[in-house]
Amino acid sequence: MKKYNFNAGPCILDRSVIEKTAQAILDFNGIGLSLAEISHRSKDFQPVIDEAEALVKELLDVPEGYSVLFLGGGASLEFCMIPYNFLKKKAAYLNTGVWAKKAMKEAKLFGEVVEVASSADANYTFIPKGWTVPEDADYLHITTNNTIYGTEIREDLDVPVRLIADMSSDIFSRPIDVAKYDAIYAGAQKNLSMAGVTIVIVKNDALGQVDRQIPTMLDYRTHVEKGSMFNTPPVVPIYTAMENLRWMKAQGGVKAMDKLARQRAEIVYGEIDRNKLFRGTVAEEDRSVMNICFVMNDEYKELEKDFLDFATSKGMVGVKGHRSVGGFRASCYNAQTIEGCQALVACMKEFEAQH
Ligand SMILES: *Cc1c(COP(=O)(O)O)cnc(C)c1O
Repeated sequence: MKKYNFNAGPCILDRSVIEKTAQAILDFNGIGLSLAEISHRSKDFQPVIDEAEALVKELLDVPEGYSVLFLGGGASLEFCMIPYNFLKKKAAYLNTGVWAKKAMKEAKLFGEVVEVASSADANYTFIPKGWTVPEDADYLHITTNNTIYGTEIREDLDVPVRLIADMSSDIFSRPIDVAKYDAIYAGAQKNLSMAGVTIVIVKNDALGQVDRQIPTMLDYRTHVEKGSMFNTPPVVPIYTAMENLRWMKAQGGVKAMDKLARQRAEIVYGEIDRNKLFRGTVAEEDRSVMNICFVMNDEYKELEKDFLDFATSKGMVGVKGHRSVGGFRASCYNAQTIEGCQALVACMKEFEAQH
């Protein structure tokens, strides 16, 4: 049976990207050796990281004066590296979910953290509006897509201080105005690659402004200077990222990714709103086009497990909601197909007809 992958992360990648990675692991570029057994400094690997970097710059239209880094440690390590490198006295954070909260927790180790707004009391079902940022904050940190709750800030905010964003789960899904940010980071395993590499886009002249000593590996300047080659970078995930970036470019780049994301979201949210069994969980204007969260309507609550079993029997994978929201979550990252979304909708319709 055909499987439709709605996993929240690690998640769907285009099959061609997986196949090219598999091939490179068996025999890289026909050199008779695996990608996994050659030096990261070899003449065979250097072009991979160079091309990945160039494609990130091309696809996101990264302006001069920014560096693109490929690091280890996941987005979670960036929760600590960001304040290490940017927080002098005070930082502002928008609390839109568990990941934002985890980022705040690390920042508190380095200085004062101002929570500009929070939707925690409403289980993060909306993006707070109408807040202000203290002018003396060193930066404002936002999470553009809240993977667990299914809310998204799908625009580039204008704020009076440096703007730093965790874009782990929606990077490369729309054009972004990189110039508005001093740093953007994303764990790769939602929209870019397999787990193991984190991408950071950082404004060079925003670095080196804090007084504290920074351990070498946690200092962005180390990685800027060494082109992400201070130590051995995660070569296989970087290779997969390069192949996936090539794939995105061939599809028409981030504009095309944006269009597709909206089409997929329209199909799935359209059915959630129409179907008597289901309802969405977040404010309509804040709905994520990447992670679509929904639950059973109150009068059908007891059917939740039945629907999951039914969906599984139809080939749907990963539609169970996160434990803190319950219900269902259909993650529709870049490689998710319209066909996959239509299959999920067909499943919802069929289940409705049976009840
Ligand atoms: C998945 C996720 C993270 C955590 O990423 P790791 O690479 O596992 O550390 C952080 N932020 C957001 C928004 C995420 O979706």
